[in-house]
Formats: sequence, C-alpha cells, structure tokens
Amino acid sequence: MNYKAIFFDLDHTLWDYQKNASEALEELYKQFDLYRLGGFSSSAFIERFTTVNYGLWDQFNHGLIDKDKLREERFHKILHHFKVLDKPLSLKISDAYLKLCPTKTNLFPYTHDVLSYLQSKYQLYILTNGFNDVQQIKINSSNLTSYFKGVITSDSIGYKKPNKEIFDHALEVAGIANYEGLMVGDNLNADIRGARNADIASIYFNPERNRHKEKQLTEISCLSELMNIL
Ligand SMILES: [Mg+2]
Repeated sequence: MNYKAIFFDLDHTLWDYQKNASEALEELYKQFDLYRLGGFSSSAFIERFTTVNYGLWDQFNHGLIDKDKLREERFHKILHHFKVLDKPLSLKISDAYLKLCPTKTNLFPYTHDVLSYLQSKYQLYILTNGFNDVQQIKINSSNLTSYFKGVITSDSIGYKKPNKEIFDHALEVAGIANYEGLMVGDNLNADIRGARNADIASIYFNPERNRHKEKQLTEISCLSELMNIL
C-alpha cells in the first residue's frame, strides 16, 4: 500500500467528544443552576444530551437540518424533556456550550504518539463534518495543529461526508490519486461509506467495539494499532 495522505476524522476519532462534552455539560449544569430549575441530575442532563445530540447530528449528516437548526434545537429539546420550557435559556446554554466545549482537550489514548509517527511518513489532514469555528479551536486547544497540513471542513466545501464530493476535494487538496489516500474515522456512514463512495481505502475506529454488519472492513479499537498497520 503506497498511501501518501491520511485523512482523519476529528470528533470521536482523535478528539474525545463524549468526554469533552461531558466535562463541559457538568460545568454548565452548575453555572446555570439546572438542578434548581428542573430537579434533574447532571448525569441525566449528560445522558439526554447524548441522545438528542446523536439524533440531531444524524439528521444534519443526512442533510435534513442545517447548522443553525442543530444549535438552536439541541438544548431546547433537552430542557423540554425535563419540562423546563424556556427557549431564551436554552439559547444561552447553547452559546455557553459552544464557547466552552471546544476548549476541552481530552484526546483518545495514543493520539500524539500515532500522529507524530505518521507525520514523518504521510501527509496528514483533518476531514470533518464539524463546523469551522469550533473545529479550529478544538485542534488548537489540544495541540494538534502541527501534525496536519490542512483542515478540511464540510462547512467550507459545501458538501458533507459521506458525499463523494468532499472526498474528491480532499484528494485534490492533497494532490493525490484516490488509491494514495486513506480515511480513518469512527462513523460507518460518514467516514467509511463516504470513503468508499470516492474509492478511497478506510480504517474504521471503533473504540467501544460496537457491533455492526459491515463486511470487508479494516477495524481498530485503539489508535496505537495504526502504528502496526501503517
Ligand atoms: Mg467522528
């Protein structure tokens, strides 16, 4: 395999989205005194966030809602679940979350080791459906900037993974042919099927070892495995 460039997804592949979001939500729960308002626990708050956020991101990835709708609806739906009907408050929490969460710095184990190993052999890029404004803060805050030649966001291209167009654009940016690229990501649809749409090889990062029916998949559960494969 003569790969020249590796495209990494960011959220939940390098940057530990769940851990970082949980830390931010814990702080917001206290800051906005949510126990007093709704009588629910911080863990219930985080759990609800996870469910609502997953659903909204799935709709977003399928092109059913846009970025503003996602951001506007997220905390409104969560508070609504706990019978706190206060739209202005949900928007305030949303703004605070968007400021705080990207500054969190938890990464998956071996992120730095793997990236510094790979950096000497390949061109590395971030390829993300996340938003320009927050992704750049996450990358800077967690000291990932120096590993990557570029950050490609769906936000700036106008196409989201799994669309072929964003992968074709990534190949163009890297100046390589499809067989010289490799995608590493945690989402079977956006990252893996997306890469296949553009005839690019892929590695599925599955740290929780979720069960699936996908066949002919190269799969890892720890990033350190990349140092044996690549
Ligand atoms: Mg991801």
